Amino acid sequence: MTDPPPTHDIEAVFREKGIPFTRQRRLIWEFFAGADRAATITEAADALRGDGVGQATVYRTVTLFSDLGLLARVQDRRGDICYTAPPIGHSHPLVCGVCRKVVRFDGDGDVRDLEARLGAESGFAIYGHHLEVYGICSECRTAKDGDHAG
Ligand SMILES: [Zn+2]
Ligand SMILES: [Zn+2]
Repeated sequence: MTDPPPTHDIEAVFREKGIPFTRQRRLIWEFFAGADRAATITEAADALRGDGVGQATVYRTVTLFSDLGLLARVQDRRGDICYTAPPIGHSHPLVCGVCRKVVRFDGDGDVRDLEARLGAESGFAIYGHHLEVYGICSECRTAKDGDHAG
């Protein structure tokens, strides 16, 4: 059993909301969905310039995708804002702060305990969470020789 490709699903999301899924939006989506690491808006714009997609369009579209929950906003170790496309369904990104490689995980077994405790302590009715975890991947740790950033 394989999941349908993300492009298939994102079109359904747009259709549902009555937002046109234009050629430019498709290109921008495919850039992020096909990447195994998070990218900045500038990097996406650089990669898509040859396809006639301008930086302002990339910026607006990434903001739209982010608002729709289709792109997660993360940061690298330098503090640069990057975006990564989650697979369809609920998961969380584990982001390498150096190379921005993204690994997805489902931590909700653990998060549920925290939510239950917070709900009990605060009296809030908890309805959701937003979780990213940051680290340095094994490749970047291996490559650390000569990296004086420590
Ligand atoms: Zn890395
Ligand atoms: Zn979760």
